[in-house]
Amino acid sequence: MTTEIVIAPRQHHEHGMSKLNHLADCPGFRRKEETSAAAEEGTGLHDVCQNIIEGWVGMEVRGSFLEYMELCLLGRKEILSEEQRESIRQTLQTIARRLENWAEEVYTEEKVGILCPDGSNLNFGHVDLILIGKINGKPWAFLYDFKFGRTLVRAAISNYQGLGYGLALLQSRTELECVTITFIQPRVLGTTSTELPRSQIPVVYGEILRIIERSKDPNAERKVCDACKYCAHAGNCAALTAWTASIAASYHNLPAIPTFHGSEITDPKQMALALYFVKRAEPAFDSVRKAAVEMAKMGMPLEVTFHGQLIKFDLKERRADRILGPAPLIWEAVQDVLKDPVLFTGAVDVVLGRLETLYVEARYQQAMANDEKTDEGKKFTKKAALLEFHRRLEDAGLISRPDTATYYLKEVNQQTEQHAIDV
Ligand code: SF4
Repeated sequence: MTTEIVIAPRQHHEHGMSKLNHLADCPGFRRKEETSAAAEEGTGLHDVCQNIIEGWVGMEVRGSFLEYMELCLLGRKEILSEEQRESIRQTLQTIARRLENWAEEVYTEEKVGILCPDGSNLNFGHVDLILIGKINGKPWAFLYDFKFGRTLVRAAISNYQGLGYGLALLQSRTELECVTITFIQPRVLGTTSTELPRSQIPVVYGEILRIIERSKDPNAERKVCDACKYCAHAGNCAALTAWTASIAASYHNLPAIPTFHGSEITDPKQMALALYFVKRAEPAFDSVRKAAVEMAKMGMPLEVTFHGQLIKFDLKERRADRILGPAPLIWEAVQDVLKDPVLFTGAVDVVLGRLETLYVEARYQQAMANDEKTDEGKKFTKKAALLEFHRRLEDAGLISRPDTATYYLKEVNQQTEQHAIDV
């Protein structure tokens, strides 16, 4: 068996494979530049999968792939959560047998591009994993895309990203009879596969060409769809604004908002209305949320009275989680009540909430048995036990809360007596 690894540097094409599904939904879609925590996590998990596959393939003497994977995951125990390791495990278990026993060629993060009849490139993209071997003596490729998101992607049979990868591979490897395209989604248990035989090249090429050509037409009709969440036009897209206004009209005939671009809304009443719509319509208007928080932080009230209803948003602070100090010191602080170190050890992993519960239950029982009162001579309650727990850890300097906070707006809807339109 000959095995080679080809690693291509990451580049993105304007109409790249990963955008094709969104462009099929709406030709006006353009991906937002900004990244997100979920996207970065996905990239990190892809990297780990890639490293594990390449590490195993690169070994001079290869043993079991799954055992090698478990060793690699053990080595990353400190940087990956159990759930992340399980997601990687499920992903790699899906490809293990074919990688170990069948593949003659292995490619990770392989750049593939669709060729036009004149030899130019229509677009390109990067495939997570390509395995090439033979079935019944005929050259065959298995192409895998790993998805670590929590929403299902289109099934492989109608997924233009996967079909684009398959088409590009069939074009560049003319000996291949067929490509099997598989999307692995460990977090939603949604693995789907489809076969793309060579005979389907003209059909798939025609569909992808039509999607890309339509996306270049400035007059092509825009369609509100799932892609709006990721679209750079979401803040000022006429189609999305009209759609949102039509939804707004179903809410007590509220007036339409001329713009949903946060930086363009300066009136706090308009801001409160806009936020009211956004919370019911489409979570694409991040700019409104951000600008509204800034407005409220400056002390401007986000409220409006309309048809007897007060629409109001209060600024609230969400503090960062408290952080416990070293476990042995915490044990010293609470051992006279918990007594059993096994109980304590069980709580350490679960951190604060479980330890609080253990302490409160144990301390409350202790107080009941001794007919104990609080320092103020009142009945010893579970709340008193909880306060005591926090006081003890605070006195010992074992509990702290980072001095950071994020802000959010909590909606407060009240019926008012007036029915005047006050906008
Ligand atoms: S925001 Fe507008 S252009 Fe973007 S995907 Fe939605 S409808 Fe299409």
